[in-house]
Amino acid sequence: MSQPRLTVLAGPTAVGKGTVSTYIRDNYPEVWLSVSATTRPPRPGEEDGVHYFFVSAEEFDAMVEQDQMLEWAVVHGRNRYGTLRRTVEAAMAEGRSVLLEIDLQGARQVKKSMPEANFVFLAPPTWEEMVRRLVGRGTETPEEQQQRLETAKLELAAESEFDHTVINDDVQRAAAELVSLMGISPRTR
Ligand code: 5GP
Repeated sequence: MSQPRLTVLAGPTAVGKGTVSTYIRDNYPEVWLSVSATTRPPRPGEEDGVHYFFVSAEEFDAMVEQDQMLEWAVVHGRNRYGTLRRTVEAAMAEGRSVLLEIDLQGARQVKKSMPEANFVFLAPPTWEEMVRRLVGRGTETPEEQQQRLETAKLELAAESEFDHTVINDDVQRAAAELVSLMGISPRTR
């Protein structure tokens, strides 16, 4: 088995990164999934310390100032999200296989500070499927959808910066491919 190391999962908006990482949290307890800090308010069903550490803007500022963030970014021009350096380093020191599910800006920052990490790009099966998922979610206005599609085009062009691409055609299959890239045996139900 390969050395446990840090794997970064990123990809365009609405490609299903959250769904894949939730599947991994529920089905692969041997993966240590980083819990990010965010200034976004919790959605129904989200728990502090499980899905995110929900913090105020002031608390987030203090964490950045004290250099507690391995990386952080403003996502969709609104809220801030960041990975806590201490928790990631502790998990790596314990020999755990660490997974960060973050946006592209964050992935680029990690690439600068930890170029030896494993960078995995989650891609949609097709552009049409991605548009369908973005629009089908129904949570954004048409203007917001248009803006996100523009962003998605730029984000898709970042694929070549990554070590591997996993196509999210099926959550269980994509998760299995991702964990095998982390040196963990995939399971099928
Ligand atoms: P959501 O608000 O839907 O949970 O997440 C929005 C976006 O924030 C997703 O694209 C997710 O990958 C990104 N994100 C979550 N945590 C982090 C983090 O710690 N750092 C960065 N850079 N992005 C994050």
